[in-house]
Amino acid sequence: MNGSFRVGNLFGIPFYINSSWFLVLGLLTFTYGGNLATQFPQELGGIFPWILGLITALLLFSSVLAHELGHSFVALSQGIEVKSITLFIFGGLASLDRESKTPAEAFWVAIAGPLVSIVLFGLFTAINIYAATTGPVASIIQLLAYINLVLALFNLIPGLPLDGGNILKSIVWKITNNPYKGIIFASRVGQAFGWLAIISGLIPTFLFSSFPNFWNILIGLFLLQNAGRSAQYGEIQGALADLTAVDAIVPDNPIVSENLSLREFVNEYIIGKESRKEFLVTDEVGQLLGIINVDDLKIVNTSEWPLVKVKELMKPVTNMEAVNAQTTLLEVVSLLEQKQINELTVIGENGVLVGLIEKSSIRRLLEKKSQAKPA
Ligand SMILES: [Zn+2]
Repeated sequence: MNGSFRVGNLFGIPFYINSSWFLVLGLLTFTYGGNLATQFPQELGGIFPWILGLITALLLFSSVLAHELGHSFVALSQGIEVKSITLFIFGGLASLDRESKTPAEAFWVAIAGPLVSIVLFGLFTAINIYAATTGPVASIIQLLAYINLVLALFNLIPGLPLDGGNILKSIVWKITNNPYKGIIFASRVGQAFGWLAIISGLIPTFLFSSFPNFWNILIGLFLLQNAGRSAQYGEIQGALADLTAVDAIVPDNPIVSENLSLREFVNEYIIGKESRKEFLVTDEVGQLLGIINVDDLKIVNTSEWPLVKVKELMKPVTNMEAVNAQTTLLEVVSLLEQKQINELTVIGENGVLVGLIEKSSIRRLLEKKSQAKPA
């Protein structure tokens, strides 16, 4: 997140605070301090209410943190790395390295946060009842109980990016057996809630000509933006999971036989064709031998092109990644990202070279798919 800085580690998880957090901390300290000062004018004098206000605000953030740790611990128990926990203007965010592997596991990661908040609500309520607290302390504990309840209920709204959205996603995933359908569905619901929040924020203006509720509008925009992004992510991932490596091989396959002469190579593959620099070279049975670069043709005099074979100019391939033709594009993309490469070869049965995949050929395929689909 932009404008976040690391404040340390929590149970080995990098812990960040976003600068927008200080704004909320200041506002909450001011609000709670002011409330306490008017509620308890006898007990609290001087700066005491503001100190208590600050402590309350920090306890509130600890509640948010406990909620995020709930998600994180369940994720860790599933072998998922928690990259960071960040506190920001709308609460907290635990950033996980990857998705859960099954819908049931995803469900438990999602519900763990709200469960922690519910437990804290119960705990603070019980303290107030059984410890018979009075005065400012009772007021603060009551507020903490209330805030944890709100935290649980708000997060259970069933639209992404909220926890309830992740729960809904896991349910749709379980029913359809397709995680991406779950993501897309829960994102659409999240977008609907985003619009609802914006509309509810504007209602005072339309009905009573008063100020709009900026907080609702801000939350609505936050939901819309994130739900839109996850819908797009779900659509792309879903499309990639449905396609295989063969679907994305570069058109006009840049594969040449080692026994072609340079003249034949130029006539058949270069003149009048889309310009490309590199071609894969195969032997008689179609196995990959090397790469020929068009620039290297300059080394040989044009008059000798009919006499020189492609294999004489080719460079052997050393460490080109290869995938099986039936590999899903989802796996191909994660391999490209993991190895930080731009292209790889596709191998069919018997090790025969089928073609080449480039990042750009995957992108073009996805664009074609999204255009072909009725809106
Ligand atoms: Zn949560």
